[in-house]
Amino acid sequence: MSTFPDKAFRQAISQAYNAVLITTADLDPPGPEIVYVNPALCEQTGYMEDELIGQTPRILQGAATDRTVLEHMRTTLSQGKFFEGETVNYRKDGTPYLVHWNISPVLDRDDRTTHYVSVQSDITERVQSERFNRQLMSSLGEGVFGIDPVGRLTMINQAALNLLGYSNEEDLLGLNAHELMHAWYPDGRPYPKDECPINHVLQTEKPLKAWRDTFFRADGKPLSVEIYATIIQGLFNETNGVVVVFREITQQLAIEEELEHAAHHDRLTGAFNRHFFDRLFEKECARSARLGEPLSLLLLDIDHFKRINDEHGHLAGDEVLKQLVNHISQRVRETDILTRWGGEEFALLLPDTSLEGARELAESLRTSVEATELVEGLPKLTISLGGTRILTDESAKASFRRADESLYKAKDSGRNKVCMAKPPADLPNKSSLACKKNLGH
Ligand code: GH3
Ligand code: MG
Ligand code: MG
Repeated sequence: MSTFPDKAFRQAISQAYNAVLITTADLDPPGPEIVYVNPALCEQTGYMEDELIGQTPRILQGAATDRTVLEHMRTTLSQGKFFEGETVNYRKDGTPYLVHWNISPVLDRDDRTTHYVSVQSDITERVQSERFNRQLMSSLGEGVFGIDPVGRLTMINQAALNLLGYSNEEDLLGLNAHELMHAWYPDGRPYPKDECPINHVLQTEKPLKAWRDTFFRADGKPLSVEIYATIIQGLFNETNGVVVVFREITQQLAIEEELEHAAHHDRLTGAFNRHFFDRLFEKECARSARLGEPLSLLLLDIDHFKRINDEHGHLAGDEVLKQLVNHISQRVRETDILTRWGGEEFALLLPDTSLEGARELAESLRTSVEATELVEGLPKLTISLGGTRILTDESAKASFRRADESLYKAKDSGRNKVCMAKPPADLPNKSSLACKKNLGH
């Protein structure tokens, strides 16, 4: 049998990456005595070899060294067992470092311990980076959680606990994240796992970005969230799960809704604004062409509105405008599009409505406004209306010109009137505006 010479052993230990320290077996002070250190240990501690030989390993200890770990080491070793632990050691220059070390007894032929061999690693950086990651996680405003490849929670940070209304990470670890917080759509329908975009990240390994969804809190209340999710790749390219980052967007959704409303509606009356009308107009033209349904337009102007402002003030005038929109809104279909076209002028786009239907509606609006005290204490008002049927292949301008001309006619023929213009294709001689008042309906 070939043997490995002592000299080769010494060489191997001296070149070992880990710090190695060998002492005598005398555990009681002033022992044990250091009899060997390798270059890695000198590098780690900042001592020269001859500064350590003959000393006790206590030279490496200091104020923050954990006495209970040392006590445990002493007991373990005195029982002849292998020891492993972590504590704070100090370099020659006094700087502390976190050491992970193990000690094994060296036995002679009679099983008596002659020496202890200690292998030490400086784990300061690793522990510090772990601690940094933990602190980062707990100080983030965003909720963060991790799931394993089958969807079980592997970690959840403080913000996620707060947002979801839980108090302890330990209570949640191992639970299925989808079932815990994502099992329902906001309308109460079940949210199957295979429709879950976080699950898709696991399946496809493609990251999820700014996905808006609803989680459910511990108390069952919905939480509007924006989600980012990416795959957790292991050291060997294996998929270890998904890390999910989310933030609550309840407030943002409310602001967006408000902004959208403001972008589409007139502030004073709540009717649609002209800008949004343009978009709806195009859509409705396309729809009516597709379905072969008629589309009509009414323009409506308050008669002698200036008098209201002049005699009762601008605020009273404003109130009249609001109440008029209310009044009309209650008398048209959900699908009809009421728009504030100008100061006291409104446009009504009427899907699936013929010229005759539009005329009847115009008449009924005219008579009901005439008969109603829109604002208490103010005189009753009248309105004039002009309208036409829109040809799907004509420009918006052309149809508006026709409606405007008929409104002008209604005003011109005494106000409180309805005046309709047939579209040119429907007119044998492409002329004349049909103007009627008090059409029966
Ligand atoms: P007619 O249409 O019958 O010819 O007479 P009118 O007095 O209604 O006509 P005109 O278009 O000349 O006047 C419209 C008035 O509407 C003038 C303007 O001060 C007023 N007006 C426009 N926008 C608002 C508003 O937002 N609030 C109030 N209070 N008044 C407005
Ligand atoms: Mg007017
Ligand atoms: Mg006007």
